[in-house]
This record gives sequence, C-alpha cells and structure tokens, in this order.
Amino acid sequence: MIASGNHPDSDRPGEVLGTVLILGAGMAGLQCAARLTDSGVPVVLLDKGSRAGGRMATRPVEGALADYGAQYVEALSHEFRLQLKQWQSAGMARLWGFGFEGESTPSGLARYAIEGGMNRLPAHLGQSLNIRLRTEVERIALDGDHWLVSQTDGPSWRVPALVLTCPVPQALTLIDRGGIPLDRTLARKLDTVLYDPCFTLLLRLAGESRVPCPGALALDGQPLYWIADNRQKGVAGSSSEGTVLTLHAGPEFSTSHFDDDRDRVIRLMEHAAEPYLGAPILARHLHRWRYSRARTPLVERFLTLHESPLLLLAGDACGGRDVESAALSGIAAATALLERRPQWVSLAC
Ligand SMILES: Cc1cc2nc3c(=O)[nH]c(=O)nc-3n(C[C@H](O)[C@H](O)[C@H](O)COP(=O)(O)OP(=O)(O)OC[C@H]3O[C@@H](n4cnc5c(N)ncnc54)[C@H](O)[C@@H]3O)c2cc1C
Repeated sequence: MIASGNHPDSDRPGEVLGTVLILGAGMAGLQCAARLTDSGVPVVLLDKGSRAGGRMATRPVEGALADYGAQYVEALSHEFRLQLKQWQSAGMARLWGFGFEGESTPSGLARYAIEGGMNRLPAHLGQSLNIRLRTEVERIALDGDHWLVSQTDGPSWRVPALVLTCPVPQALTLIDRGGIPLDRTLARKLDTVLYDPCFTLLLRLAGESRVPCPGALALDGQPLYWIADNRQKGVAGSSSEGTVLTLHAGPEFSTSHFDDDRDRVIRLMEHAAEPYLGAPILARHLHRWRYSRARTPLVERFLTLHESPLLLLAGDACGGRDVESAALSGIAAATALLERRPQWVSLAC
C-alpha cells in the first residue's frame, strides 16, 4: 500500500515528486544528501538506526562516552583535507596525532578526533536534512519507471531515483529480494566486495588506564589490533571519574569467534588488554560489527546499478574503506545524480 503525499517537503512516504531517496544516513548518505539539498533537490534519507552516523558511532557506558566504530578521520585527498580543515576551524575536529605507538607502517597523515565523540560529526551534518530514523528498508523493486522502496514496518516510497549506501552485501540482499535484474559483470564485481567483521569491547574503568599518550595503541591483531582511551582522546567527558577503553579485535579473531558465546569473547579480549587496564573494570559492553571495513573495495567511487529508473550504489567500499572514501563516494554519487537530473526529474512530471 502506497501512502499519499505529493509535496517534495512531505515527511511521509508515498509518491514524492522529484525526491531522491537515500538508504543509509552514514557519512556517504549524509554527504550525498547535503550536496543534493544544496542544489535544491528534495532528499529523504532512511536509516534503520536510532541515530545518524552508521559506523561513526559513539555511546554512553556508565556515565562516560566512548567511540566504538571509526576511531579517527584522516585525509589522503586534497578535497577531504579541505573539508577536515573546515571542521577543525568550526571546533568540530581536533588533531589527535600523526601516528600511534605500535603501528607497523604509520601513514604519517594527521589523524583527527571529533570533539565529544565521532558521532557528533554526522549528527551535525544531518541537522538540517530530512532523515527518517528507525526506518528499515526491507525490499526495493521496480514499479514502472520508479522505484518502490518498502519499509519493514510501514508504507512504501515511490521515487524516480534511489541511492544505496549500506554495505554491499546488504545492498545485494535488497536487490535480490526485489528481483532487480543486474548486469552480469556488475553482479560479479559486487560479489568480490568482502568485509572484515570486528568485535569491539568497551571497558568502563574506575580510574586511569595505562594506555600511552595520546591515548591509543596499535597491536598485532591477535586478538586485539587497537586500544584507545576515550578520556585521553577527549571523548569521555570530564564530569565522570575514570575512563572507557575501546578495544578492537583483529579480523582473524573476529571471524573465527564471530558466532561464539559473548562471555567467552569478552573474557579473551579482556585478558589481552590486562597490561593496559590500570584500574578496576566497572562495566563492559560488546559490539559485533558484521561489516566493519571492506577488505576488497571497489576502485569506482560509485556504481550505476540501474539506468532508468536510476539506482546508484555508494559508500565507503566505493574507492576505499574509511570515512574519507565514504564521504567522497557520497559526493560523487550526488554529482552523478545532478548531471543526470533531466533524466529522472522528467519521470516525476
Ligand atoms: C570498528 C571499526 C573501526 C573503524 N575505524 C576507522 C577509522 O579509524 N578511521 C576511518 O576512517 N574509518 C574507520 N572505520 C570505517 C568507517 O567507519 C566507515 O568506512 C564509514 O563510517 C562508512 O560510512 P558509510 O556511510 O559508507 O556506511 P555506514 O556508516 O555503515 O552507513 C550505512 C547506513 O545504512 C544503514 N542501513 C543499512 N541497511 C539498512 C536498511 N536495510 N534500511 C535502512 N538503513 C540501513 C545503517 O544503519 C547505516 O547507518 C571503522 C569501522 C569500524 C566498524
């Protein structure tokens, strides 16, 4: 059942004239939406999460904050370096360091933390965008010259252009469910995009940790590859005592223990972190990322999955495996949509 509502600014599902629908309000979706909105295109973002940001994630643990997805932002490209400088001038991004103890091949690039936690950046970017949270897309299907985008609970959207920014395997599931015909070469290419899983364990400590200044340490990945002290990083907030440690497990450990009992995973990760604790543990929180980072990313910044109606694929795996590639991919998808605007706007008339 398609709900009614034809106004571009409509916040309701239905046939929304000329509106681009973006699945995913992570960095890729937000950057894509911001560019389109700046050019006067009505955009709606749908995200199953309770907040925007996707893998740029921050959460409270017993009165203190911790980053449990992306840990820092860095820029290889001139374009994203300028963007980072702007966020730094606005007091959003802060230089954290140029490398961390234990890194085997430090890039030497400046690493930026986000003041108040990584999620503050996407929250800021999403402020003036039309985002519908807790909205899970279950299926996308062709409906004449439009896309029919079905929510898990609720009515469907009918739009002339759609951008998918979720991890590639999740996009493929949606495409498969809707029986969307994909060019064979394209389908084979998408099948090559694999992701590493990652366990993240957050440990709330009663006092200071032994993680060296400036609050992060790289390890060999057996089982841990990263430990960060959120207080030293400037995330944890100053009102509470102690800190929260973020522990990331390496890809091999995360793969081989992915379906293990959670308590066992916590025990193994906590044991490996013992030399760096320095204070009693008050609370633990384990998060399991099925798709943490692309192991085999695509070279393209975005892909056109279907020409008419237009369906684009963007996200970090298009051109990389980090926040920068997600942002640049979202921008590239927006540019492509604007270039082809006459094609999909005419469908709405
Ligand atoms: C543990 C970990 C550590 C990392 N460390 C770093 C780091 O230090 N530096 C760095 O640059 N990068 C790091 N990354 C990678 C970085 O976080 C990602 O590359 C980037 O945030 C991806 O952005 P995105 O917009 O492409 O995808 P996402 O952030 O994953 O956004 C996709 C969105 O789609 C939504 N979604 C998915 N399916 C559906 C559906 N069916 N319906 C509705 N919504 C849906 C999700 O809720 C999500 O919000 C790390 C990632 C992880 C997990």
